[in-house]
Amino acid sequence: MDEILQDILAYLRAHDELPEKELKSILHARDRLLPPGAPRYSKKALLPRYLAVRAHDPELWRSWNVDAGLERRLVAALRMKPRRTASGVATITVITKPGPCSSNCLYCPNDVRMPKSYLADEPACQRAERAFFDPYLQVAARLQALAQMGHPTDKIELIVLGGTWTDYPTAYQIWFAAELFRALNDGVRADGTFEPEALAARRARYEQAGIEADDAALAAAARPWQERVNAGFLTYNEACAILYDKSPAWRQAATWQDALWPELEEAQRANESARHRVVGLVIETRPDRIDAESLAVIRRLGCTKIQMGVQTLDPALLARNRRRTAPEQVARAFALCRLFGFKIHAHFMANLLGATPAGDKRDYARLVADPSFLPDEVKLYPCALVAGTGLVAEYDSGRWRPYTEDELLDVLVADVLATPPYTRISRMIRDISSGDILAGNKKTNLRQMVDQRLERMRARPGLDAAGPADPDRPPRVREIRAREIVRERVDVDALTLDDCAYETSVSTEHFLQWVTDDGRIAGFLRLSLPRADRLQAALRGLDAANGSGAADEKGDGAEKGAQAPAPAAADDLFARYGLPIRADEAMIREVHVYGAVAHLSQTGSGVQHLGLGRKLVERACALARAAGYARINVISAVGTRGYYRGLGFDRTSAGGLYQQKEL
Ligand code: SF4
Repeated sequence: MDEILQDILAYLRAHDELPEKELKSILHARDRLLPPGAPRYSKKALLPRYLAVRAHDPELWRSWNVDAGLERRLVAALRMKPRRTASGVATITVITKPGPCSSNCLYCPNDVRMPKSYLADEPACQRAERAFFDPYLQVAARLQALAQMGHPTDKIELIVLGGTWTDYPTAYQIWFAAELFRALNDGVRADGTFEPEALAARRARYEQAGIEADDAALAAAARPWQERVNAGFLTYNEACAILYDKSPAWRQAATWQDALWPELEEAQRANESARHRVVGLVIETRPDRIDAESLAVIRRLGCTKIQMGVQTLDPALLARNRRRTAPEQVARAFALCRLFGFKIHAHFMANLLGATPAGDKRDYARLVADPSFLPDEVKLYPCALVAGTGLVAEYDSGRWRPYTEDELLDVLVADVLATPPYTRISRMIRDISSGDILAGNKKTNLRQMVDQRLERMRARPGLDAAGPADPDRPPRVREIRAREIVRERVDVDALTLDDCAYETSVSTEHFLQWVTDDGRIAGFLRLSLPRADRLQAALRGLDAANGSGAADEKGDGAEKGAQAPAPAAADDLFARYGLPIRADEAMIREVHVYGAVAHLSQTGSGVQHLGLGRKLVERACALARAAGYARINVISAVGTRGYYRGLGFDRTSAGGLYQQKEL
């Protein structure tokens, strides 16, 4: 192995980079020297070996004579799955412990080993189970894997998945978040591994409590309960109560799975200067569980983005699929999330029970065009049939059938074309293994198939039903993901700063984007200018729930947009709805600059180092000032607080929920 590393270093001393083909020939040349039957060398093992030598055998490492530049090129050459960190940050997905969900949607998986809607053989779920669903252990395992695969780990986006976040007790939410930060604060050592004693002590605690992490043992223990759930004798929630709430082992774990705010805040403060900083924290919940109070808690946890299961806006489909939400609740949840500054990530499904391809296209078009919704990101999930769900009976009776591949592609292509330039389609399938899907799409390259169909439509307009009638106007994809400049070098002089403004039910939004001549995007910022005059109409229904009587007292003049409330009345209105901001405060909801992840302390050629973020913030401040706003907030992640302090956001607002700058 060391000889191969030396071969690679010799190559990199003579060349700027090592193409994959050259790396393969170096490996093959060394393989040929191995005795027959000996295991072949693999690229995967090279970087861990290099890191181990550097950390534990300094004499040998010094003899290799590797300076910082050469090491950077070596790590780049040995990096596994480079796309994983190509969009700007390294992502770590963690899963909460199994727990009930207060809904029971028809299509939703009921795997009793997992939180509602997840399946034990999804990759992140397998990792979570092996780590007892402990947030610290999950982060440690992932961080270690990323470091050993050669990925920079200084900017981390944490994605917390699992049923409905707001259904977990607040003390568990605080503990979970504190442990995430704590794991990143402890971090990997120079050889890319975690302190083994710390991990062993944590594992021992769960083992001593009697919690299992072995896949076969877990499957055997869950089987009888799973069979009862699948046969309809038990609900998922009832099985969960037996397996977890009443289990002595899990009850014991619950005694250490809670924390108070000061503990979390201390971990957050430490993360501001940690080596692995949190640049985004995402949770998922249902629209009907969102209110001002829960959002304040979520924000205090350090969260910056909310994933929300919308699935459909059609009331008939919502009812038939036993979704406990109404479109009005979804609209209010969008309005509140926006006013709190969160990025809004909507999940949307095609092919639900009762859906048609034409209806699905109309439904999605409404999501991305109606000012009450307009998500920042979307996950498109075609409905699939999973054992143990209520949908099985509908399938057996012929009331539900999966769309044909052609129908599904037709819907997805129409959805992509309908998506505006400020929305990102982050996924088109759920990560469900094909073995779990009884009927429905099993193709993992669905997005590629959609892209190919769009390509064909561009080449021969009118070929597909969804194609444009006008051959001079081929279909144009405007959504963000298709336009991202991921790894290429960018000539900053070739970029222009475009302002795409749009109206929502509660704000005027400015999507500021750095774009090339052909529309590719190098970075963007989301600025929200809240509109007090639209508040009552958008949040209608909350008054009754809050008992605030805000609508009654204020009348409905503002709803019609006739008159903006006077400043004091507007502030009063914001406070009555439990909003943490004042009416004259603008909000930066997101700043994102693309480019291969670069170490915070080093300069690099990626677009992150060209001052694009700073210029976006300056333009946002200028726009907010010109529109009459007195202050501007930013919903910063914990690890980006220092960055925003450097840009003049020198104080906090709303009890520390935001960083603020006077305009
Ligand atoms: S709300 Fe989400 S997790 Fe709960 S049952 Fe419905 S789809 Fe499943």
